[in-house]
Amino acid sequence: MVHPTEGVVLFDCGYTRRFHEATRSFPQSIYASLTKVTIREEEEARRQVDPDTVRHVLISHLHGDHVGGLRDFPKATCWTSSACLELFDALPQWRSWARGVLKEMFPDDWRETCQTFESTSPVHHPELGRGHDVFGDGSVLVFPLPGHAKGQHGALVQTEDGPVFLAADAFWDIRAVTERKEPNPIVRVFFDDMKAYAETLERLRTFHTNHPTIPLLGTHCPVAAQRIVPFDSQP
Ligand SMILES: [Zn+2]
Repeated sequence: MVHPTEGVVLFDCGYTRRFHEATRSFPQSIYASLTKVTIREEEEARRQVDPDTVRHVLISHLHGDHVGGLRDFPKATCWTSSACLELFDALPQWRSWARGVLKEMFPDDWRETCQTFESTSPVHHPELGRGHDVFGDGSVLVFPLPGHAKGQHGALVQTEDGPVFLAADAFWDIRAVTERKEPNPIVRVFFDDMKAYAETLERLRTFHTNHPTIPLLGTHCPVAAQRIVPFDSQP
């Protein structure tokens, strides 16, 4: 999104080819073999948006496919939840891959410079619960979406076309919300807490029932993918 005063704001920054470098050797290579991803350079976030213009990057959770571009936006302020920072601190480098975290992908000063959602004003949403107002103007509200990964947050963002909810990996397919479809077993590999995952989905179902016109966009959801427009052709 382009915030009227804060400038370009990214929510996560995708895979980059650094993922291949970080997972070249064992045991990190297990992560690569589970995800079987191919990364095309032209699809990386830095090729979608001029890195010099990006002022803020909000990180939903620490998985490699959400933080891969972080090193490409050195001028941006990075934000994430305090639970994500705690996880980062608690994971030893040699086995962080088993939680979907590759520490090599984070900028060297990331831990010292990253800001927390919790340092901003608290808000309360009827369905989404307690969250935070990142810029203090209601434009980007973040809410915990526990279950898939420790500390995961989603964002209710006001765009020129109305509000959208960026749900990160709270579901892989919107039919988990609309039709109660169970996730494919492979996506459960790195799950943090299945019970919390189910509770999060239930909250999103209530949100969707009460706000059927607000799009719920999951990072890996095929329906969300159909909405993608190249950044430079956006109004
Ligand atoms: Zn994830």
